[in-house]
Amino acid sequence: MIFDIEMIRRVYTDLPERINKAKEKLQRPLTLTEKILFSHLSPGVPVLHYKRASDYVDFAPDRVAMQDATAQMALLQLMNSGRTTVAVPSTVHCDHLIQAYRNAESDLETASVTNREVYDFLRDVSNKYGIGFWKPGAGIIHQVVLENYAFPGGMMVGTDSHTPNAGGLGMIAIGVGGADAVDVMAGLPWELKMPKLIGVKLTGRLSGWSAPKDVILKLAGILTVKGGTNAIIEYFGEGAKTLSATGKGTICNMGAEVGATTSIFPFDEKSAQYLESTGRREVADEARRIMEHLQPDPEVLVNPERYYDQLIEIDLSELEPHINGPFTPDAAYTISEFSEVVRMNNYPRKMEVGLIGSCTNSSYEDLTRAVSIVKYAREQGVPVKAQFLINPGSEQIRYTAERDGILDEFGKAGATIIANACGPCIGQWKRDDVADNRPNSIVTSFNRNFAKRNDGNPNTHAFVTSPELVAALTIAGDLCFNPLTDTLLNDKGEEVKLPEPKGFEMPPRGYEVKDAGYLAPSADAAVEVVIDPHSSRLQKLEPFPAWDGKDYINLPLLIKVQGKCTTDHISMAGPWLRYRGHLDNISDNMLIGAVNSFNQQTNAVLDPETLEYVPVPALARKFKSKGVGSVVVAEENYGEGSSREHAAMEPRHLNVKVILVKSFARIHETNLKKQGMLALTFVNKDDYDKVQERDKISVIGLTGFAPGKNLTIELLHSDGTKDRFEASHTYNEQQIEWFKAGSALNAMRK
Ligand code: SF4
Repeated sequence: MIFDIEMIRRVYTDLPERINKAKEKLQRPLTLTEKILFSHLSPGVPVLHYKRASDYVDFAPDRVAMQDATAQMALLQLMNSGRTTVAVPSTVHCDHLIQAYRNAESDLETASVTNREVYDFLRDVSNKYGIGFWKPGAGIIHQVVLENYAFPGGMMVGTDSHTPNAGGLGMIAIGVGGADAVDVMAGLPWELKMPKLIGVKLTGRLSGWSAPKDVILKLAGILTVKGGTNAIIEYFGEGAKTLSATGKGTICNMGAEVGATTSIFPFDEKSAQYLESTGRREVADEARRIMEHLQPDPEVLVNPERYYDQLIEIDLSELEPHINGPFTPDAAYTISEFSEVVRMNNYPRKMEVGLIGSCTNSSYEDLTRAVSIVKYAREQGVPVKAQFLINPGSEQIRYTAERDGILDEFGKAGATIIANACGPCIGQWKRDDVADNRPNSIVTSFNRNFAKRNDGNPNTHAFVTSPELVAALTIAGDLCFNPLTDTLLNDKGEEVKLPEPKGFEMPPRGYEVKDAGYLAPSADAAVEVVIDPHSSRLQKLEPFPAWDGKDYINLPLLIKVQGKCTTDHISMAGPWLRYRGHLDNISDNMLIGAVNSFNQQTNAVLDPETLEYVPVPALARKFKSKGVGSVVVAEENYGEGSSREHAAMEPRHLNVKVILVKSFARIHETNLKKQGMLALTFVNKDDYDKVQERDKISVIGLTGFAPGKNLTIELLHSDGTKDRFEASHTYNEQQIEWFKAGSALNAMRK
């Protein structure tokens, strides 16, 4: 079945003409990114030489995808928008709320009971508004999108930061907050800062132990977690054509780890074959017909430095296998230097759990390459030393892998096959062996490895790498094992060298699935969506109050955050996922993972009244109960990581008025604006040091709030002295209207 083929045909009919017009207007060749962006301008928006990383432009994406954790808030907002059906094809995917514990079957059963209320809500809203619904166990959003919905030259948004996975099939796919998704579902123009372009030229061909994952692991080391901010990474070159479509998906997926808006590969024969193999021959044929428009122009390829803001070249033939971590995905090491890194840093050397899967690496190619190592080890009598967990990306992958004996082979290695869902990748992992939070090491084929992300233990050292290296390290049970040079002992005491992994890009017998887990929407306006007022999981949203038209004067500091503050620190996942549809309840996790710069502790901030240290949400609630707003101060790349808008809604709900930081991560800054918060940046980063623990903070100049115009911050210290300095912002006219109305949704309803 091909979903939404009429919409895809329409896009392909219009694409060539729109691209040619853009080229005529701009009088220059275009990169692939520009072709797709200019052909998706919102109606009436002109083609202009937009200033990259500066000008906001309105777009009209072709579709929306939402995962169950973020969909709850997105759909609660959609219900407040006044729409009756969605304006573009949209889907909901139940993947984040399933906890991994025993095995797929039992965990799914548990999830269907514990999350029934949420699943029923998502299904009913989907039915009412015409949204496709993928049931629990159907698969992880990005894998399901790649297999069913992604199409070259298309544009989509998704309420998850790894939405760029679809860039592997040549789609501009951008992770957004729920409020942005609501804009698109409501048929409103969707606004994005025109991105910069980072060109990555791939030459050569991968071989041996190197995998597509190593491209992005290396790039993460080059660009760091901030290097892709406000940029789209566009891959090109002869090397790109040698990569499988799913391998390209892996690379685009993890572009989120360098903060990129999205990543994209050109359409090529491998993309076409993947489309055919996943039952979309018609899409492949249509795309082949307009092949030249789904590539950068030839002039761009000849002189890429003239068209990209930054150019990086990676020779795939020279690329060594990488392993990144712990605690940040940009700590990149080659496998040959890694054992030294482990020893020097005293990382727990024993490798305790190997995890293969997630939306990043659960393709047929990934599983077959990894299992080839596992099979060889078994045949040679090499024991598997660590625990093994496999989470297939979709039911189609799982079914096919089971049919082809892959899961059976993993099973012989002692692996547990967990549900086709996020599980340990998002902290949904009931891990029994580290209840004491002891230091330990795990290796995953996932994308993120921030502290506590997988199992909630701050002392778990999580490293990310390719599935084949996960397999090798799991067999060895030793972080210092390098399969390229080292040997393992088998049950006869003989030394065995693991062979280079081998796999299939796509199943030789084709993909197969009995029940993919899809429910088509009825778009029945009569469906009643019931929210129990006593529910602890779901809560009807009340509109946030509008700005009162005055400067913010003498707001107390809530917390001055030190160091990294991702959306995981602001709104933790794991057990808190269950409250994603209940704003008041989930607000009890607000900033509990952030480090207070005054005492280096988490979730302990000074109550200026009692002078006692109290939890962050408790102090915010106390201020709120007295009608007092508060201020959060933080450092660089605040809000990096996931797109979850709860990280913006919780402070808004608890009456935080201002987030003042050295710099923001893109999605989070937009989320704050959408919720009517004031997101400000220190003009002089050293001013961060002036903020004291018992400060009262004023924001002066709000009555003249205008694009490009700085605001003044005044700190009133507890000894009565003051400091004044400037803060900048990136609000445009429309976003200032959101601020004034109290939120973008309030402005939409006006
Ligand atoms: S990154 Fe992990 S949590 Fe996010 S969609 Fe992928 S598998 Fe799920």
